[in-house]
Amino acid sequence: MKAGEEFTCPYCHQQSFLKLVPLMDGWTKKGDALACVSCSGIIEEVKKSDPLRSTQDNTSSADRLKSLLGDMEETEKISLTEKEGDKNFCRDCSYLIAHPFLCRCMKYGKEVNPMDDCPAFEKKKK
Ligand SMILES: [Zn+2]
Repeated sequence: MKAGEEFTCPYCHQQSFLKLVPLMDGWTKKGDALACVSCSGIIEEVKKSDPLRSTQDNTSSADRLKSLLGDMEETEKISLTEKEGDKNFCRDCSYLIAHPFLCRCMKYGKEVNPMDDCPAFEKKKK
């Protein structure tokens, strides 16, 4: 069966046509389905292997890749947080003077990024 095909609907028992509708799982589109034009009854879920869905498959695999990358970014963020203690960030340096809008390094007399990794790092005394 495919969209636009004429059929007799088992729900409303009318001679009707199939239309392609998104299958929603909450706010997430989980696929497509063929539904009755008259009563919107779902006749058949469109399988992922259906060639009609190839473009949507590309989208969903891109989404999967994106979510995979998102996970990786998340993991990297976490590991960065864990490693922070071993890093010589300027913000932990005793040479750093923190101004409201910029951070200056006393050692070099220049503006620095609090997250910079400085070779002249000297740990701030707590
Ligand atoms: Zn119907």
